[in-house]
Amino acid sequence: MPNRILRSPNDLNADEIRALYMGFNSPITVQDCGEKCALHNPSGKPFCCDICEALPAAYKSEWDTLRETTKLWHLYQGDECDSQPHSQDSLSNDDLPSSMIPLACLGPEACERENRLLSCRQFPFFPYVTSNYEFLGLAYDWAFEEKCWVISNLGQVTEQYKEEFIRAYDKLFALFQDEFDSYAIKSEEIREAFIEKKREIPLLYRDGGYSLINPENEHIYSADENQLPRFGVYR
Ligand code: SF4
Ligand code: SF4
Repeated sequence: MPNRILRSPNDLNADEIRALYMGFNSPITVQDCGEKCALHNPSGKPFCCDICEALPAAYKSEWDTLRETTKLWHLYQGDECDSQPHSQDSLSNDDLPSSMIPLACLGPEACERENRLLSCRQFPFFPYVTSNYEFLGLAYDWAFEEKCWVISNLGQVTEQYKEEFIRAYDKLFALFQDEFDSYAIKSEEIREAFIEKKREIPLLYRDGGYSLINPENEHIYSADENQLPRFGVYR
């Protein structure tokens, strides 16, 4: 693996954050996926925009950029979810990488597309990294299998979104070793989780198409869109 300078995305300045955002701005699917999943959330909000379900995390450089230009975000206080209050005390270093801070937005009614965090843009995906340190494509956050409509409709994810995702993370990984390492760890976690589930890991392959990965030996099988699993109410 090539040596990379040990900097973090927190070293990015406001222009670099904006450039990253502009290059990673396309909707994930042609349809508004928020309309698809919000129907199934008692709060009526898309799951990824409901702080009771998902806590947005920002690089400090994103927060520094956004706090100057929008009122959309504030530092997470711990009392934003009425039904299942998080507590700031319960946020440990295990919950968030030390380079990131929890924020809360004004909610989907007030969303400003241009001011969404990287974590909003990437949801429900993360860059999947093999044990040989290869960034292979997009895997999803398995905790949201029953909730996120996109996870049950991977065939609907546009090529444009996928290309932007890959370009954004290729850029970040070329600059920041720690960032790459943290996703290598998360990828190890998904392998462990899917070994337990006795299932293959669905992947949007970076070179096109879909794959299923055997989590034990990491063999990769090409998959047809119809072989990709669906979950819960989206079956
Ligand atoms: S990404 Fe998933 S959880 Fe978020 S709005 Fe779309 S379908 Fe809902
Ligand atoms: S900024 Fe927009 S996309 Fe991000 S969590 Fe808030 S409502 Fe959702």
